[in-house]
Amino acid sequence: TPRVFSGIQPSGGLTLGNYLGAIKRFVDMQDSGIETIYCVVDMHAITVWQDPEALRRQTRELTAGYLASGLDPQKSILFNQSQVAGHAQLGWIFNCVARLGWMNRMTQFKDKAGKNAEKASLGLYAYPALMAADILLYHATHVPVGEDQKQHVELTRDIAAKFNHDYGTEFFPMTEPVIEGAATRVMSLRDGSKKMSKSDPSDASRINMTDDADAIAKKIRKAKTDPDGLPSEVKGLEGRPEARNLVNIYSALSGQGVDEVLAMAGGKQFSEFKPMLVDLAVDKLAPISTEMARLMQDPAQIDAILAAGSDRARAIADPILQKTYEIVGMVGAK
Ligand code: ATP
Ligand code: MG
Repeated sequence: TPRVFSGIQPSGGLTLGNYLGAIKRFVDMQDSGIETIYCVVDMHAITVWQDPEALRRQTRELTAGYLASGLDPQKSILFNQSQVAGHAQLGWIFNCVARLGWMNRMTQFKDKAGKNAEKASLGLYAYPALMAADILLYHATHVPVGEDQKQHVELTRDIAAKFNHDYGTEFFPMTEPVIEGAATRVMSLRDGSKKMSKSDPSDASRINMTDDADAIAKKIRKAKTDPDGLPSEVKGLEGRPEARNLVNIYSALSGQGVDEVLAMAGGKQFSEFKPMLVDLAVDKLAPISTEMARLMQDPAQIDAILAAGSDRARAIADPILQKTYEIVGMVGAK
């Protein structure tokens, strides 16, 4: 039976990239009736420094973002990673399965560690093995993610395959990444070659889920573009990453195909298209940010939702961890 798992780091405020590339698709999967488990991956967040007070706030705000976007704690399991110890426990086993050579090929580590990789945490390097544990602790079959996480889900499959091979078992499933839609890689508004990220130091590079209408308008108005107008066909976007990005965002927010957007907007200048995009973005995001602000008034209720979700997650995870320990040869009470 299919089971969906995915997560987002409380490493900052949610962005439009997180919403279109992840949360909106989490909601679609939940509403299609599949079993869905969505995590706030706080242990991943601390692979780079997080101020404790900020981490608490970001954890609750991300949960509020999940709820405000339509995730329903009755339908989906919503919880934070640190509260289900099996993530760390299975993560250790997978640290012993994954090979250094595999980890050395992970492009996210290179991007995040930057030039001075000696100063990066060991956790940042081991991150993909913990992510494999997040997924496989639930025997998840499908993982909705943005394009940037494809390599990590592939590594998850490599880890599952090596574990199964080394221990002569078929215990762990081969998980499929689910990367679909017009917004699998929303780009920075300032640099069409960089992914929009919540941890980007430039606030102008991204639209935050909590931005008000003025901030959204200002950022889209200032978004980098080329001097040409919009093409009327998709191939006219080739070699124009900034133009493509704005069209992709419009497409994903409106639910229209990129070709439909261009049929409507082809021939327009950006001075005309950008205000249309602002209106659409404000229209879609304002109700979510209003609801997030309302939910944030009652942090105790958010914490209670996470605690209840953690109990449900543990009920699935514990037997899978125990079985893994047994396969590996750890002695313990049955
Ligand atoms: P950080 O900068 O801290 O890594 P992030 O914005 O990349 O934050 P993550 O928590 O790492 O967010 O990723 C959560 C989910 O959002 C993942 O599925 C990821 O693929 C997706 N995602 C992140 N950025 C984008 C983007 N620009 N476009 C589409 N999907 C994205
Ligand atoms: Mg990221």
